[in-house]
Amino acid sequence: MNGVRAGAALVLLVLVPACGDHSESKHAGPAPSTTVEPIVPLGSSPPVGLVWNVGFAENVPIADMEAQYRKFVQLSQDLWSVTEGQVCLSKIRFFDAVSPGAKPSASESLHVSNLDVVIYASANWDILPVTGQVLFFSPSGTLGRTDRRIDIPDDARRTTVLHEGSHFTWKLSWRGNNLPPGLDDEYNYDPPDSACIMDLSFSPLRWCSGGSLPSPNHVTKDGGQGATSCWEQILKDYPNYHFGGSSTTATELPPVAVEYNDTP
Ligand SMILES: [Zn+2]
Ligand SMILES: [Zn+2]
Repeated sequence: MNGVRAGAALVLLVLVPACGDHSESKHAGPAPSTTVEPIVPLGSSPPVGLVWNVGFAENVPIADMEAQYRKFVQLSQDLWSVTEGQVCLSKIRFFDAVSPGAKPSASESLHVSNLDVVIYASANWDILPVTGQVLFFSPSGTLGRTDRRIDIPDDARRTTVLHEGSHFTWKLSWRGNNLPPGLDDEYNYDPPDSACIMDLSFSPLRWCSGGSLPSPNHVTKDGGQGATSCWEQILKDYPNYHFGGSSTTATELPPVAVEYNDTP
């Protein structure tokens, strides 16, 4: 149905550079303006740091929160690279026991008005082969803090988290063809486009480009966003941002603050 955008990540082929932190090759840039917003604000200028409220369905030990925090730092690094140093996560606020026993098959009846992300126990993840999802079109303050919410299992992979985070991050104005107010699931339409995180396989990490933008690589889809690439739509809605064609940055990732609200 329209309200659910599933993020199946079945055949992701991702080649991740095996380099560690070569900090000598990174330089610190201007500190991102931190917003309390979970979505990049319309009218904003980069760099911007987002604040996400993440709730575990179950009551979990703080070690589980710390483990998920490391995943969100990786997500921040991936967003920072893909946006060429324009968007990152500035803070993650963890909560737990938000809905013990919750299963994603009933996700639309889960109302968590303060949250942007729900992490389910993997044992309760009952919508396989879907490996993660973003629910769009919910009135703010019902399914989540805004009009969208990420659902993932606690064993979600890096590429799944990045795919769902990509859906979530931008507020886009494209319309028609069931397009959501964020990046769409390109894998629902032919032909396959290996140039984008929003398709099924992609390497390296990037969102597709097209038209007059650098490194155009978007394969026109039969349906969905058609000839409009992800970056073209992002820049239409966020004119202060830019795309240089590299999908990477030499600017060091800003720190990701964390807050643990652990139910005893
Ligand atoms: Zn998706
Ligand atoms: Zn794309």
